[in-house]
Amino acid sequence: MRWSSLFIPTLRDAPAEAEAVSHRLLVRGGFMRQLQSGHYSMLPLGWRVHQKVGEVIRQEMDAIGAQEFLLPAMHPASVWQASGRWESMGDEMFRLTDRKGADLALGMTHEEVFAGIANELNSYRDLPQLWYQIQWKFRDEPRPKSGLLRVREFAMKDSYSFDLDDAGLDVSFDAHHDAYQRIFRRLDLDALPVEASSGAMGGSASIEFMVESSAGEDDVAICGGCGYSANVERATSALPKVENRPGGDAPERFATPGIRTIAALSEAGHPPEHQVKTLVYRVDGAITLILLRGDHPFLEQKFVDATGAVEVVPADGDEIRAALGASPGSLGAVGVTGLTIYADESLRSRSGMTTGANEDDVHLEGVDVERDVAVDHWLDLRSILAGEACASCGVALRIARCIEAGHIFKLGRRYSEAMDVTVLDADGVNRVPTMGSYGIGVGRAMAAVAETHHDENGLVWPMSIAPYEVVLTVVKVDHEESMGCAERLYDELRAAGVDVLLDDRAGRPGVKFADAELIGIPLRVTIGPRGLENSIVELTARTDGERHDVPVADVVARLVDLVVTGRSAGR
Ligand SMILES: [Zn+2]
Repeated sequence: MRWSSLFIPTLRDAPAEAEAVSHRLLVRGGFMRQLQSGHYSMLPLGWRVHQKVGEVIRQEMDAIGAQEFLLPAMHPASVWQASGRWESMGDEMFRLTDRKGADLALGMTHEEVFAGIANELNSYRDLPQLWYQIQWKFRDEPRPKSGLLRVREFAMKDSYSFDLDDAGLDVSFDAHHDAYQRIFRRLDLDALPVEASSGAMGGSASIEFMVESSAGEDDVAICGGCGYSANVERATSALPKVENRPGGDAPERFATPGIRTIAALSEAGHPPEHQVKTLVYRVDGAITLILLRGDHPFLEQKFVDATGAVEVVPADGDEIRAALGASPGSLGAVGVTGLTIYADESLRSRSGMTTGANEDDVHLEGVDVERDVAVDHWLDLRSILAGEACASCGVALRIARCIEAGHIFKLGRRYSEAMDVTVLDADGVNRVPTMGSYGIGVGRAMAAVAETHHDENGLVWPMSIAPYEVVLTVVKVDHEESMGCAERLYDELRAAGVDVLLDDRAGRPGVKFADAELIGIPLRVTIGPRGLENSIVELTARTDGERHDVPVADVVARLVDLVVTGRSAGR
């Protein structure tokens, strides 16, 4: 393509609200524009990258035998009601009503719709099936931000496996695991597979593929010793043993005028590791107590994963006072009955503890948690902290901010059961197939590449997804020999299947070089009168910026070689 006739609206400055590097560079480079918060228009350059990312994913899905579909983005409420997610998805789901009054949703994911189609599977001989699509999804994000990293409308590759039994699901899951590693290698993304929370999907196991980046929204615990890695939403660690303080036969009350915080109580001689923190939540409508050690943060996702609760919100002051008779700062669970009490595992066999007495300005000391509190459920509820020891090998855990680039789930039978999917097994017995679900956000992968492939001059796309692989920059477009040479190289490169951009714009060479660097084309050939006097052009790789003189006669072969090598990197 000729730059002079393309629409590549590069900008000197990024929009003020753009914080993430990928957001700034994709807007400045003319790849995309925001229509409204969380919704982006892909401009021609951006769409080329998006399409190439999609094609890498498509090739690797096809390679594991997956079959491509395209399902509607708009769904009847009935399929979501069948699985119970019409309720549980809450405000995340875009809902609308058509002219006949029918409830509809914009798809966030397609487990229900694919399972509906799987009704037409009849026999175990039809299994396994791997089905996928690349389709637009909608999610009513409360705070869209960071350009393509957190949006409300996005293209996703989602795939689904159907197997007769768990062993089959393991095979489908592992095939996806391997395919995802190949996909991310080809995108030149260093994506670490980590244990993840299954969240709203449910299911028995899930793995996220995480790319370390300050623009990410997830924290991952990583062990440098044994390779353990997990999203902090489910990460565990080994805590150093705390010696219990001595305590009597029963808790004792003591006055704590004005003491309302863990820190203040600590200053009064009760260190946080000897305090029980009492949190009051409304869980699916019921007032519920959640107990943790004073210095341990509560991790709501662990609670949701363990209990399946849908609505988990902190109770307000009136609710707390009605339930416990005191205000936050003096709350406790000793002697409490009639409320469900959850306690973090780290409180097991702890005694000599201090906690609120459910009377303002009074606390209890000498509390033996198992003796004095009617704990209903012991769960892992705390957020681990950087530097805590790996539970497997004892090495200190590091916590890294990451972008979630992919997520794979073993779903089990939840959706196939909800949609009444059965097949006959070898004995003629009806069986419900087990499912897996596997996603990669196309735009998010593109943004993750931009986050990890740039320098002070702009983007540095890997060859596999660069919008163009080679740019021919003509220094003086009114120099006939230069344009003649450029046209010949352009034709030859196109004939060799190279994505080549001919910068035939009139204008200062410095501006053209800067634009080519900003949009991140991997290879640049500079064609100028001085070089051509010696039949020489200049070849520059975007990665290192070094200039190499190459004879005009050799340059096409050199470029084709570099492009082909670059495209297959990571395969
Ligand atoms: Zn370890």
